[in-house]
Amino acid sequence: MTYIGAHLSSSGGFAKMGRAALAIGANTFQCFVRNPRGAKAKAVNPADLEKLRVLMAEEGFGPFVAHAPYIMNPCSKDEGIRELAAEMMAGDLALMEHLPGNYYNFHPGSHVGQGVETGCRQIAGMLDRVVRPEQKTVVLLETMAGKGSEIGGRFEELRTILDLASCRDQLGVCLDTCHVSDAGYDIVDDLDGVLEEFDRIIGLPRLKAIHINDSLNPRGSRKDRHALIGQGSIGTEAIVKIITHPALRGLPFLLETPTDDKGHGEEITMLREKIGEQ
Ligand code: FE
Ligand code: FE
Ligand code: ZN
Repeated sequence: MTYIGAHLSSSGGFAKMGRAALAIGANTFQCFVRNPRGAKAKAVNPADLEKLRVLMAEEGFGPFVAHAPYIMNPCSKDEGIRELAAEMMAGDLALMEHLPGNYYNFHPGSHVGQGVETGCRQIAGMLDRVVRPEQKTVVLLETMAGKGSEIGGRFEELRTILDLASCRDQLGVCLDTCHVSDAGYDIVDDLDGVLEEFDRIIGLPRLKAIHINDSLNPRGSRKDRHALIGQGSIGTEAIVKIITHPALRGLPFLLETPTDDKGHGEEITMLREKIGEQ
């Protein structure tokens, strides 16, 4: 069974999130492990985390993805903001060690005029400070739309970070379909070409998760506005091709479309029907 899930809006504990995923026909999910817009961490409850671990094993879940808070910017011009990013990631990764074998995804950040090179160096530097060699969580760099001074709109930029980070064995990449399309990659008419380019520049074994979103804007717009599947410039057919592409087999596919858990459940049902898993 293909691992399809969504970014869950429900909160109130990890075991509850696992059950919410099941309830919408998902066998993977994404969530925040702290308030997405603030720095406040959730209290660690080992019993709750253990319950989720057992539920995921019993129900045949694929790995889930914890998403770092949006306010995290490891390549800010402001040292205090960079420091906060390191603190948040270190705290989140400590929590994730209770759930070994899953992923922690973050937006590389915006260099705010410092330049891509400085930005990449700061991001790699933070990763080397917080990623532990013994850790059982792979940290994912997300492909971005390239909005403003965002790093990660080009595969080459992610490659640079991976090259600069000594902890690269614990790093991977999460590809967001809305973001790569907005960044200019033609996943609708040339998916094979885009995946070949990804393989050549980053290496397909690094690709650990896919965010499946349609885009409100045309390819190359550098906007980053997600649309419901089938209601944007990417379309259902292209998303289905991505989910069923042999090079992406076994990866978790996660919806981050602008709807709630119930709406994501309907999208999951629709996608499972299209791929013959319903
Ligand atoms: Fe994201
Ligand atoms: Fe995303
Ligand atoms: Zn986005």
